[in-house]
Amino acid sequence: MADAEYLTVAEALQAVLAGVSVLPAESIPLLPALGRVLAGPVVAQDSLPPFANSSMDGYALRAADLVGASRERPATLRVVADIAAGAVWEAHLGEGTAARIMTGAPLPAGADAVVPVEETNEPWRDPERPLPGQIEVYRPVNPGDYVRWPGEDIQADEVVLPAGHVLRPQEIGVLAALGVAQVQVVRRPRVGILATGDELIGVEEPLRPGKIRNSNGYAQAAQVLAMGAELVALGVAGDTEADVRAKLQRGLEAGVDLFVSSAGVSVGAYDVVKAVLEQEGNVTFWRVRMRPGKPLAYGRYGGVPYLGLPGNPVSAMVSFERFARPAIRKMAGHTTLERPQVQVVMQEEIRSDGRESYLRAIVTRGPAGYQATTTGGQGSHIMTSLVKANALVIVPEGVTVVAAGERLAAMMIDWPETVF
Ligand code: AMP
Ligand code: MG
Repeated sequence: MADAEYLTVAEALQAVLAGVSVLPAESIPLLPALGRVLAGPVVAQDSLPPFANSSMDGYALRAADLVGASRERPATLRVVADIAAGAVWEAHLGEGTAARIMTGAPLPAGADAVVPVEETNEPWRDPERPLPGQIEVYRPVNPGDYVRWPGEDIQADEVVLPAGHVLRPQEIGVLAALGVAQVQVVRRPRVGILATGDELIGVEEPLRPGKIRNSNGYAQAAQVLAMGAELVALGVAGDTEADVRAKLQRGLEAGVDLFVSSAGVSVGAYDVVKAVLEQEGNVTFWRVRMRPGKPLAYGRYGGVPYLGLPGNPVSAMVSFERFARPAIRKMAGHTTLERPQVQVVMQEEIRSDGRESYLRAIVTRGPAGYQATTTGGQGSHIMTSLVKANALVIVPEGVTVVAAGERLAAMMIDWPETVF
């Protein structure tokens, strides 16, 4: 590959996103659809509310019967019915009469308003108390008072939610109210996670000379799960092309939509991942002008998009954030792909090497807005600096020194309630 393939972060992200597309729809039950993206618009089959009903416990009546009513000169109405929530009173409410009505109960025909129970001489609190024969009402009401009319919230046949909308708890509630028991959402991306390296041993194994535990396999798996995607764990491949090929074959058989591997994409003697991609797939690029995370391969294997992350744990996680996460969000149907960014005032001088740099930092709210402090050692093997961080502060390409007090963009990888 020539130097032309040494891309900026923006170019690399654009290439990655161009290589993935939104997945097909599937129909699933309502509650598991939480967090998913609607594949098509939802059209209301009913109006909400479906019928005129009372917004208070009180009396349904005709507003005209209360004209001039006051504490001193109450209006007296005959009570002809008791309408509980869920019940229906079929008759017509005539002049000079009222029906006791509970919140949510249907407004009877003939009535045009409700007066709250507190405005009458019958503020019942005792369920044993019999229905009064008549009531006195102490104030007039306007037609429509304390009535919720049908369709005030949603009209039947209206588009309630457009395609691409993300289902939060409030959308789940609306869909339930509309009787949508099954919902058409974009299928969850199936992401195959592969760690590579002869030095890797399992988390449960004791350390041996020269070996380290496979932390990337877990970190990337967790990154996949944290965004609601489906994990296909492909385990660990040793540094041989045959082993990498065998593990990727398992991914193809499992129907993965994206491969994400770590390590083996640099220029070391045993960096076999790139070789496998070059021989049996293709490599769109394999280096990005980014820190951390310069070696980053993107291409295809068996027709499936492939992101080869660097091996260093921080580089792997940061490049996943920068490239894999937006790609997976695109496949899942999201229209906003990137983490939110805020402008921060740097609390210390920082230096960079001219590549677009992502510094682990903690963003807090200070007197002059958001402020950021780096979380210590920025070596790409210092995992604890990511543990302490809630953001990645971005030093733009070409900038080598940022003075304390200068502003930079921070990509929020976490949005803790304690800070905001
Ligand atoms: P490489 O890209 O193969 O040169 O790996 C770069 C660094 O990342 C080396 O120090 C590796 O030991 C380390 N590394 C690679 N894979 C993993 C992994 N799965 N977990 C933890 N560290 C890793
Ligand atoms: Mg290696």
